[in-house]
Amino acid sequence: MNLLTTPTGEAFSYADMETESARIAGLLARLGLGPGDRVTVQVAKSPAAVWLYLACRRGGYVFHPLNDAYRGEEIAFLLADAKPALAVCDPQRKALFRELLPHGCRLLTLDAHGHGSLADAAGKSSPQPEVARRAADEPAILLYTSGTTGRPKGAIISHGNLASNVAALIETWEFTASDRLLHALPLYHAHGLFVGLGCTLASGASMLFLPKFDPAAVVAALPDCTVMMGVPTYYARLLREPGLDREACRNMRLFISGSAPLSPEVFAAFRKRTGHAILERYGMTETGMLTSNPLRGERRPGSVGLPLPGVALRVVGPDGSVRRPGEIGAVEVSGANVFSGYWQQAGKTAEAFTPDGYFRTGDQGYISADGYLTLSGRSTDLIITGGLNVYPREVELLLDGLQGVAESAVVGVPHPDFGEAVVAAVVAEPGTAPAEAGIIAAMKERLAGFKVPKRVFMVNDLPRNSMGKVEKTVLRARYRDTFADRP
Ligand code: AMP
Repeated sequence: MNLLTTPTGEAFSYADMETESARIAGLLARLGLGPGDRVTVQVAKSPAAVWLYLACRRGGYVFHPLNDAYRGEEIAFLLADAKPALAVCDPQRKALFRELLPHGCRLLTLDAHGHGSLADAAGKSSPQPEVARRAADEPAILLYTSGTTGRPKGAIISHGNLASNVAALIETWEFTASDRLLHALPLYHAHGLFVGLGCTLASGASMLFLPKFDPAAVVAALPDCTVMMGVPTYYARLLREPGLDREACRNMRLFISGSAPLSPEVFAAFRKRTGHAILERYGMTETGMLTSNPLRGERRPGSVGLPLPGVALRVVGPDGSVRRPGEIGAVEVSGANVFSGYWQQAGKTAEAFTPDGYFRTGDQGYISADGYLTLSGRSTDLIITGGLNVYPREVELLLDGLQGVAESAVVGVPHPDFGEAVVAAVVAEPGTAPAEAGIIAAMKERLAGFKVPKRVFMVNDLPRNSMGKVEKTVLRARYRDTFADRP
């Protein structure tokens, strides 16, 4: 049965997956890895990287993937923190890794074509076909939070977390063996790793496996696929491709978006062009997926939908009391999908859970009377200006709806009078040049004065991390001194 094809025509079956991953698992066993040992992996996305991940799952080792954009300092921190027994890197990074390896850690290499010392050694190893027995609460993946705020923390994700979440997603999105996923996401993040791969493997489906997101390659691949998963930036970029139309999407049944907010404008434009309402879902590294707009039923733009089966979700006020429908508060969750804690950070773990065992997501939002969750920002993004709360998302949604505005990001910066002041970075639609004064005037008509940005900075691009999340820490630093010399 076909599992994975690449745009260059390589094809791998489920039987190939078994053979390749068993071979690498044999090598890892021969190297002396034991239960719970971490395998830190910074390699290009490739079929061989998938076999390596599955070899870790097969052998019961803990897979620890790194963003391939990380450089010296970031790699040094993560290796020192995770203390792996084995690291696998691109051959070009070998010297750097060698310098940074923790004591006793071995090093192997794997390049984008599946070559390197890992492949050489695995070729000489006898395969380990049996799958190690691991309890549901034993760790399967160590995944660091993407760190748009502060130092990354390692979330320990168990076999049980993965299994329960994938089962809920397959049920909700009705994944079957006839599906073919357009896999353009990276493998070092929850989205591409356990949502994308997980749904495919657990339903016996197949994947068209792109090494990275390239809008033209995605449009070319769409006719051969039934489902696509992406971050909102992917969908915004696809809309700039003239080839994106109903014909290209003729075999598609589902477009899924997550990891960052999907703007209602992109939702509407995509629907107009392709006939598809993008299904938005919400999740995070620590919890896997939490909510989804329904497959059958209303997909509400701006909302992240309803809790997945098995996920308990509540919105609470500062005193912990559950908010009424429509009232904004902190989102808390529990379920078999929620991780048990941060790697070697008992204090941070304790802070992250409520006394009755709910995980504090750090997201703010509200639930509608009919159960749909809408996010309004991260608690760290909440702006308090003159004692009044401003949820950046509310302001961003209105800014994005203004004529001439392509996208926006709103942050709070220090202000001598108000404590914090609302400022916005705005990207103009191509061919337009909206002015700051005009935007502020338009916002004043739509919003209470204290929520209207005091300054609007026109920018070419918003700073985003590789998952499409706007890096608000960068914006806060950039505009920190805006009001510094006011009396
Ligand atoms: P990560 O752990 O990198 O997956 O980041 C998780 C965070 O991404 C969540 O806590 C949310 O703040 C944000 N996020 C994920 N999905 C969405 C979504 N559909 N809309 C808005 N924010 C999202």
